[in-house]
Amino acid sequence: MTLLSLTDVTASYGAAQALFGVSLDIAEGEAVAMMGRNGMGKTTTVRCICRMLPAKGTLVFDGHDLSRLPSHKAARLGLGLVPEGRRCFRDLTVSENLVAAARPGHWDIARVEALFPRLGERHGQRAASLSGGEQQMLAIGRALMTNPRLLILDEATEGLAPTVRAEIWAAIARLKRDSGMAMLVIDKSLKELRGACDRAVILERGRSVWAGEMAALTPDISARHLGV
Ligand code: ATP
Repeated sequence: MTLLSLTDVTASYGAAQALFGVSLDIAEGEAVAMMGRNGMGKTTTVRCICRMLPAKGTLVFDGHDLSRLPSHKAARLGLGLVPEGRRCFRDLTVSENLVAAARPGHWDIARVEALFPRLGERHGQRAASLSGGEQQMLAIGRALMTNPRLLILDEATEGLAPTVRAEIWAAIARLKRDSGMAMLVIDKSLKELRGACDRAVILERGRSVWAGEMAALTPDISARHLGV
């Protein structure tokens, strides 16, 4: 069943139009990569989905018309965003950060700490004192504590050391395999996206220009639209 469906979405920052027609679908249990060079509209699309930026076009999540909902209501429907730049409460501890995000459901601190054992080891430590990678794990943990039906990861491995990146990709794979979590994943690493996602959509200058199975994303297509 389709969980998220965007059709011909357009959006602007003031007078500057940023999206000119983005369409994408995510089914339950499916992981979709959103790709595109810098400034092509990936984060803007995420802002439209999460109702942080007004959008035109059709945006449906789990049968609800997102365009009619304020952002807090959209979140309550089950949109779990891990924003670019991993925002946590710096002065709260790891566990306080997780509790502050909690909404009723099957995710709890124990389950998050099973996914990210490092967070368990740093349970009582202030978020500000965590490494960048640990803060990213905490940001993912906070999104999971809201019991999302769709997890949106915007550059979750950006700027992290290779070993920490590998831990985060392993957690993403486990979330998909063990929890059947539907995901929209934005990242610069094509290789890792290929391993983690079922399908991809490519944005170019605010438009979705290609969508398909990951296996159909040939070197020719990536060269043309991603410059790799
Ligand atoms: P990146 O990989 O660099 O994050 P992106 O694909 O996520 O790129 P967006 O951040 O969505 O791209 O940007 C799309 C367009 O919207 C760009 O032209 C950008 O300059 C513009 N834009 C993004 N955020 C704002 C903003 N807050 N105000 C004005 N323009 C913005």
